[in-house]
Amino acid sequence: MTAAPEEMACQICLSPLNTLGTPPTYVHPIQLATDGHEPVPVPVSQLDTVRLTCDFCGDPYPTWTLLGGEVHAVAVGATAGLVQNFGEAWAACAVCQTYIDDGRNDKVVDRAVRALGFGHHPQARERIEQLHRAFLNTRVPGRTLITTTAWPTTAIGARELPKVRDRLGGFYRGSDELPFALAATDVRQQIAAGLDRAGLFWIDGDFTDLAEYAVEKLPDVTISRDLMPSTDGLLVWSRPVTRRQIAAASWTSTSDGWQLVNYRTLGRGLDGTPLQRLREQVGWLASMSTVQVHDQHVLPGDHPAAALVATWLLITQQAAEVTTAEVDKVIRKSYARTNRAAPEVRIARIGANGGTTPPSARSASGDPGPSQTSRFWVSGHWRNQPYGPGRALRRPVYINPFLRGPDGAPIKLSTTVRMLSSHKPKSEDHD
Ligand SMILES: [Zn+2]
Ligand SMILES: [Zn+2]
Repeated sequence: MTAAPEEMACQICLSPLNTLGTPPTYVHPIQLATDGHEPVPVPVSQLDTVRLTCDFCGDPYPTWTLLGGEVHAVAVGATAGLVQNFGEAWAACAVCQTYIDDGRNDKVVDRAVRALGFGHHPQARERIEQLHRAFLNTRVPGRTLITTTAWPTTAIGARELPKVRDRLGGFYRGSDELPFALAATDVRQQIAAGLDRAGLFWIDGDFTDLAEYAVEKLPDVTISRDLMPSTDGLLVWSRPVTRRQIAAASWTSTSDGWQLVNYRTLGRGLDGTPLQRLREQVGWLASMSTVQVHDQHVLPGDHPAAALVATWLLITQQAAEVTTAEVDKVIRKSYARTNRAAPEVRIARIGANGGTTPPSARSASGDPGPSQTSRFWVSGHWRNQPYGPGRALRRPVYINPFLRGPDGAPIKLSTTVRMLSSHKPKSEDHD
């Protein structure tokens, strides 16, 4: 099989682009309503998010890429609806995939007919069926997880982390494919093995906010083992961070450094059998981007892995108070059955005294005033500090985020920093 030409999408609207003429020019799909901008083609491999839809039914959360015979552009119905450049790769949503796996192609057609509003057009149904059959009859075995779908967020709790880790490891070991950098089997096996050994970290809401604020100003960082809170790890933020909306990240030590992977959650909005299968076969996380770094690699402060690196730094500089989560009895038992040590989940939260608040900064902040019943993060910046043997090494330490206000008061939004806590304020009963 020859390699297909690289798929392109528009950098502005994230829609996959069609080609027109020779030499090919890239155009928006005909049925796409844009604001009139010219398409800006970039390879799909460079984008975290692409607005694909299920090629069977139009669902906005496609999950799998299937390969089959080339189906050329086909129009159904007089007024658009289904006008697409069907190639040899089709995107399938989790529901269509479930029907296809169960040999219920008629159900896929029903779904498409309903989605396209062709309920009263028997001819349209027939055409859709032909189209699906043309593809499915020539389908090649196997499927590739679509990792660029912008799923709404699934919240992952600390107690669920061992289960989330195990499913992710199972997916890396399985036969469903991954695109691009994670396509190679040896890389996948290494990450799966790393996940088995991984320290599990869950970052609480306030600490996630702090990390997200701090990452915006992160300088270039020289990667080394001392930055990391464990040799291998999986870390989940309590909500997705940065404009990339990264939900989780893993790091795996390899023979020549570390493989860092960012993840998004998937599956939100599904239910019944499609959800159950997705959780069994994929789990909760889909890789978004990955990078292999070696020791002393200089990682730019705006790199996609910066959120992970900033969170490591905040944990290792002890801005965090790390506690251990109680793990589910069921999970503990299932680990015991397979002779695995009970999993440990570490929860990172902001330390009792604000963690990073130097006492001098607190007194220098002056009298917060009698009316103050909440605390504010005032500012913060990274400073490269010497450390290690002979203090020859440098690593960024987040200086400040110093808290102003009475100890123990809830932490609130300031003018410069986003809200760090949504805890209910204490009653104003002072004086
Ligand atoms: Zn566009
Ligand atoms: Zn579908």
